[in-house]
Amino acid sequence: MNVSVNNTLSGRKEELVPEDGNTFRMYCCGPTVYGPAHIGNFRTFIVQDVLRRTLEASGLKVKHVRNVTDVDDKTIRTSRELGISLGEFTKKWEDKFHKDCASLNLLPPTVEPRATEHIAEQIKMVSDLVANGHAYPSPDGSVYFKISSFPEYGRLSGFERENLATQAFNSAGEANSADEYERDNVADFALWKGRKPEDGDNFWESPWGEGRPGWHIECSAMSRKYLGDTFDLHGGGIDLCFPHHENEIAQSMCATGKEPAKYWFHSAHLMVEGKKMSKSLGNLYTLDQLLEKGYSPAQIRYALISGHYRQQLNFTFKGLDDAKSALTKLSKGVVSALEKFGMGNSDFEKLVKPGAKFEGTLFEPAWNALCDDLNVPKALGMIFSELSPLREKGTAGDIAALGALLYALGISLSLDGCDSCSSDDIPEEVMELARARWQAKKDRNFALADDLRQKILSLGYAVLDSKDGFSLERR
Ligand code: AMP
Ligand code: ZN
Repeated sequence: MNVSVNNTLSGRKEELVPEDGNTFRMYCCGPTVYGPAHIGNFRTFIVQDVLRRTLEASGLKVKHVRNVTDVDDKTIRTSRELGISLGEFTKKWEDKFHKDCASLNLLPPTVEPRATEHIAEQIKMVSDLVANGHAYPSPDGSVYFKISSFPEYGRLSGFERENLATQAFNSAGEANSADEYERDNVADFALWKGRKPEDGDNFWESPWGEGRPGWHIECSAMSRKYLGDTFDLHGGGIDLCFPHHENEIAQSMCATGKEPAKYWFHSAHLMVEGKKMSKSLGNLYTLDQLLEKGYSPAQIRYALISGHYRQQLNFTFKGLDDAKSALTKLSKGVVSALEKFGMGNSDFEKLVKPGAKFEGTLFEPAWNALCDDLNVPKALGMIFSELSPLREKGTAGDIAALGALLYALGISLSLDGCDSCSSDDIPEEVMELARARWQAKKDRNFALADDLRQKILSLGYAVLDSKDGFSLERR
């Protein structure tokens, strides 16, 4: 079955079919690396991860490109305040981003290009736009895209050309950072920014003098380099629809004469008390802040996928607690089904991969829900309702289909009873003892269980039991 999602460009739900009939090529706007990403950012990256995994589970090969914005006003300003080079500063936050992505079980993109390593490609695209009359240099050494030269401007976001007075607000209604450069029309946007004193040493030579690329051009230049003039899907949070993606379409079409992407995929925001979670509002949570409060990465991921991607999701601690109960219930359901099949946990873990058939299995309805505009909440509900039938009358095909569904959702279950310990933090030796102890308890071998508890204590960890599992805490 083909996966379908809402295409912002057409305003309709469409089946995702790779243009080359083989590999689905998707580009997602990546993070600006000037601090830790917050879990609102991760909602968007996780939704894109679920899309990629679902496409893989449907049998497609996926080429996933996600950029790193490692030069802009914020990265330059903060690195200069700290007195370190831009590269040293952004590397630190890029590494942190990768670590957080791995904790949240996000697959690494196929290619992850950095803006500063593609300056030549960006200058080339800007030069082409100047040469064909779609852009103009200004006296301060900046170059602007001439919106009036592209009659189709506004097609993606639905902005009326006559109402387009300024690029001051994005499609989430937030102020864009002010552009204080000279331009013919307030709506024109910077492709290249002439060097200013506050840029310090962060500049590159160009045909228009020293300066640096504007934000929008990096995605057009890098998507073109790694995916071609036209590729399948371009994604981002809804705030990127205007002006960022609108500007990308304008630049790319005017530079190549071709439509850059066929499908435009936008996800709604993570909210806190009715407002978008964002750094500027100061209402954010980072992954580390939630881990410190005792929530596990699996719980956080589950909570972030539990709402439909096109609807805003309200962040609550209750949502995280509910995610924990859901994961425990799911793990228990899977473990009891495995017992019936005489399968061990590691046998099941090998099935968490793409490749299984869904047709005719107990999990076909859940798979269909996922394929239908990525309806994760509906798919999760259907998975839960099939756990009893799985135990009662499931087949090897059903178990394999469940494994592929969990792959698509990026849910990694802790089938060994440990429901709040992330294997990242707990030494493997302690985990082994804790698993053995849990098994001893299940076997009613309490003497062995007590013995193992003491051994775990001597290694500096306490075991806390709940009704359905255990957790480990450092003492
Ligand atoms: P940035 O690092 O600010 O460029 O943002 C990275 C990604 O996170 C972009 O796709 C944004 O649209 C997205 N994003 C930012 N805030 C939120 C939020 N509160 N909820 C969901 N996505 C967000
Ligand atoms: Zn972008």
